[in-house]
Amino acid sequence: MVTGILSLQGAFEEHEKVLDELEEPWFEIRNAMDLDREMDGLILPGGESTVQGKLLNDLGMMNTLRERIQSGLPVLGTCAGAILLAEKIYGDSTRHLGTLPAVIRRNAYGRQLGSFSARGDFGEIKDMPMEFIRAPYFEEVYGGTEILSVIGGKTVAVRYGNQIATSFHPELTGDNRVHKYFLESFRLRTPDRVKL
Ligand code: GLN
Repeated sequence: MVTGILSLQGAFEEHEKVLDELEEPWFEIRNAMDLDREMDGLILPGGESTVQGKLLNDLGMMNTLRERIQSGLPVLGTCAGAILLAEKIYGDSTRHLGTLPAVIRRNAYGRQLGSFSARGDFGEIKDMPMEFIRAPYFEEVYGGTEILSVIGGKTVAVRYGNQIATSFHPELTGDNRVHKYFLESFRLRTPDRVKL
């Protein structure tokens, strides 16, 4: 089972490190040809969603990725990656992949709280450390999207079938439980692997 990591811009190397720590294979997706490779899961990293969205369009990757996600490819979108996934961006008519029934608000915490750390639950996982960097939050979810984390009254992680999206950066905290949850939920990794 191999995970493709969108590597056009932003914090993709940090996700690579986490998958290395988990001893899970990955490859970088840098152009449309990389989308022809076998891929069982997809990670969309944080960064700048406008830049990533433009690159996805310019490189002719947007429609293919959207179709793959709509056909069930498991995807983990973090921060800008969550913005790429959302069907609606608050106060903005831009839509990138638009596969996740939710309204996301970009740079939602304003300048004062540009970056901060928090701890909270992520679904069944308790007391997760979370790093927020000019983060969005989910203004509204609908259509069956499930809320996984709420911090300070704001929704910061959601799941819709094969799509998991977080406002925060789970790859920057040294705690790999979100990645494990992602990989194990979709059987990209066997839970509690027995090492022979
Ligand atoms: N503020 C960025 C955006 O709007 C997201 C920040 C991040 O990914 N850390 O795309």
